[in-house]
Amino acid sequence: MPTRGMLSFADASFSFEDAFFVLFGVPFDRTTTFRSGARFAPTAIREASINFEPDMLEHDVDLREVPFHDMGDLHEEGTADAMTLSIEEEAKRLVSAGKFPIAIGGEHSISPPVVKAFGSGISVVIIDAHLDYNDEYQGLKNSHACAHKRIEDTVGRGNVFAFGVRSMSRDEHPEDAVYADSYTVYERGCEEVFDEMLSRLKREPVYLSLDIDGIDPAYAPGTGTPEPFGLTAFDVRHIINALSDRLVGFDVVEVCPPCDNGNTSVLAARLVREVVAVKWKSLKRRR
Ligand code: MN
Ligand code: MN
Repeated sequence: MPTRGMLSFADASFSFEDAFFVLFGVPFDRTTTFRSGARFAPTAIREASINFEPDMLEHDVDLREVPFHDMGDLHEEGTADAMTLSIEEEAKRLVSAGKFPIAIGGEHSISPPVVKAFGSGISVVIIDAHLDYNDEYQGLKNSHACAHKRIEDTVGRGNVFAFGVRSMSRDEHPEDAVYADSYTVYERGCEEVFDEMLSRLKREPVYLSLDIDGIDPAYAPGTGTPEPFGLTAFDVRHIINALSDRLVGFDVVEVCPPCDNGNTSVLAARLVREVVAVKWKSLKRRR
């Protein structure tokens, strides 16, 4: 069970029972390979969330009226394997209760167990500078450098699409992965490349995993393994809006507050709000 922190994500004011969107933090960064500190992100992103007006007029959504709950942070487990099991258990509880999970990392190793809670019937879109397609990294299967591979273990090859990638090694066998690199996105435009990708996703429900380093360090400098030539904040906004009806869950990972000037946490908080507003608007439209 999670611990209830002092601070909640802004406007997440409904009870667990009444909420549709349920946010939880996973302050875990033990497999980080370069700069550590992602464990501080859940708190920093909650603090940054206070920055915004509850009204999102461009979506005609007042977040105070959206059934949104923040259940606090999961306990940190000592190893990546123990943490993975604990996240999966908690995520399963949410998914079986019909909730829309929003996980705030922590590093990218926290995403595969959230996806696993949905089982094999979904597609997954990953936004990331890194392919994360290692079967094992530094002896660990549950390393953040294996996130894409572990997600593929659950949903199967061809049902995961990585977007904005620009860092990988030959040892990862990138020829087996499905991805769009950030150079192509820049040259052809995010809309065209993403829409083409969307038409190739075979399953209707889509889970979105946002490794913040997929976005250019100019917009998101506060991350453990920054890579130049990334996506813009508008690109990610487009992706969230293009997925709206199909979205079933979301995570944002790899924000590293000790490396940040504050803007990365603000952007992460704003993208959580974007997901909530866009999905809520889509549900209201369908009713
Ligand atoms: Mn990653
Ligand atoms: Mn990454």
